[in-house]
Amino acid sequence: MGQSTIPSDTVCYPAKLVHGHIENLLSKNVDFIFYPCMTYNLNEGNGLEEGAVNHFNCPVMAYYPELLKANIETLNENNFIRPYLDLNRRKNAAETITKCFSKFKLNSAVVEIMLERAIKSLKEHRRNIIKEGVKIINQARKEHRKIIVLAGRPYHIDPEINHGIQNILTSLGFAVVTEDVVAHMSPVPKLDVINQWTYHSRLYRAANYVTTQADMQLVQLVSFGCGIDAITSDETRAILERKGKIYTQLKIDEISNLGAVKIRLRSLAATFGG
Ligand code: SF4
Repeated sequence: MGQSTIPSDTVCYPAKLVHGHIENLLSKNVDFIFYPCMTYNLNEGNGLEEGAVNHFNCPVMAYYPELLKANIETLNENNFIRPYLDLNRRKNAAETITKCFSKFKLNSAVVEIMLERAIKSLKEHRRNIIKEGVKIINQARKEHRKIIVLAGRPYHIDPEINHGIQNILTSLGFAVVTEDVVAHMSPVPKLDVINQWTYHSRLYRAANYVTTQADMQLVQLVSFGCGIDAITSDETRAILERKGKIYTQLKIDEISNLGAVKIRLRSLAATFGG
């Protein structure tokens, strides 16, 4: 649906999909779309991120609302609300939200409390993901199955983006968990690049953890057109191969023919065992 408003065919696949989501919302006559620009992701500082100098979102993710506004003619100042938000600065974020929704006469102090509650829920959600992941790991070990850490970013959970690659892995006999299940179990390894993006910092820690587990390998989902992954994939490969692990990278884009992906994963199963 959004194809005609994508200005560059070289942008990553997740970004392309946003155009379709926006068109879909507009076709449903929603009152407005709230899509903030976010230079920073949340600072996940949990003591294991030493060496992380910042917690940015990638530039595409951070400022895509601006691109959408410039390229989708039906978006305007009334139906597309896109403030600059930093959720690490709650008071400031609450003031910004209060201002851009002034017609609803919100109270900034109440918005701040709501933000705190939302962050608390998010943390709880993350703890649940870890809990489920640990269950899967324990079960796999009981059944002597090998474990794949399928590493990407949160939006790879969209079935249109991941193309069901996790199902191919399970059909080969592997147990599958995502990188956010194990990232917190490892410190940041030695890196040759600046560790400054939240999601990519998780990736480095997850890769480092995998090197300490005999029954785990990592598969990295990389979006075609992702500039940042050009860097993270080299770094992830180095972290894994330094310790004798196999690096498997799968490029995902709008092509739905999974023939090449299946061959790569079958090769991994033949080498490592499912
Ligand atoms: S990190 Fe890569 S895949 Fe994700 S939004 Fe940025 S450019 Fe796209």
